[in-house]
Amino acid sequence: MLRQVAEGVLLHESEFIQSNAVVVQGPAGALLVDVGILDEEMAAIADDLRDLGQPVVAAFSTHPHWDHVLWHARLGAAPRYGTARCAAEIRAFLSDPGWRDDIVEELPPEFEIPLEQLGLLTSLPAGATRIPWDGPHVRVIEHQAHASGHAALLIEERRVLVAGDMLSDVLVPMLDLNGALDPIEEYLAALRLLEGAADQIDVFIPGHGSVGGSDELRARIDRDRAYVQALRDSAGPDDPRIGPSAREGWEWVSDVHAGQVQGLAQRSERDGTPG
Ligand SMILES: [Zn+2]
Repeated sequence: MLRQVAEGVLLHESEFIQSNAVVVQGPAGALLVDVGILDEEMAAIADDLRDLGQPVVAAFSTHPHWDHVLWHARLGAAPRYGTARCAAEIRAFLSDPGWRDDIVEELPPEFEIPLEQLGLLTSLPAGATRIPWDGPHVRVIEHQAHASGHAALLIEERRVLVAGDMLSDVLVPMLDLNGALDPIEEYLAALRLLEGAADQIDVFIPGHGSVGGSDELRARIDRDRAYVQALRDSAGPDDPRIGPSAREGWEWVSDVHAGQVQGLAQRSERDGTPG
């Protein structure tokens, strides 16, 4: 269920679009990052951690999308952190009395997904660069690609990068077309930030997809940069994640790509700017 990817760092891969929940072990319990998706999966993670003598003492959501801010009662009542922007975003979302209906439209109906404690995050101070807990030092690398207040985490002494919804081998870069002022530039800037961590890691974990090492990290940054630059330059990206080379079961990623092309075209029409 939980498998080790580095000393003191465990991973659970969900049945739902290869979503990765990450456990960082500390002296008195675990930090849980992007908790999981399905009811039974989160319950199993809670039980496994209890068996390991590692109750959840803190949690972190990399960004304010529904599949990264779920919770399960069995995980207990630890503080659940997000960046200040992430927490503000989800708070605004939850202040709309119709939020459940909005989410339910997006949920895969074949799975049981608990919404009871969705998004109940504690805001880190604005600009915070570490998670307050007594385990290994975890550096917060905040940027504005993919979603407002998105953060990657660098667990320095374990040489592990938790990338959030970036650097996936199955999903193309998904731009924040509604929130960001300049979604293309925000994305390219975030890739540069992550590239700066490449020498400090042996393992990185994307929010969805396969874990890799530092060479693979550089390869994925190159591939994602090429994809985003192709979007910017209105060129058809030559990307293995879309078109005929898409993996079986992941053909829908081509629709995500088409949606982004359309969204960018609408933005440039509205703003009167090219690209
Ligand atoms: Zn996301």
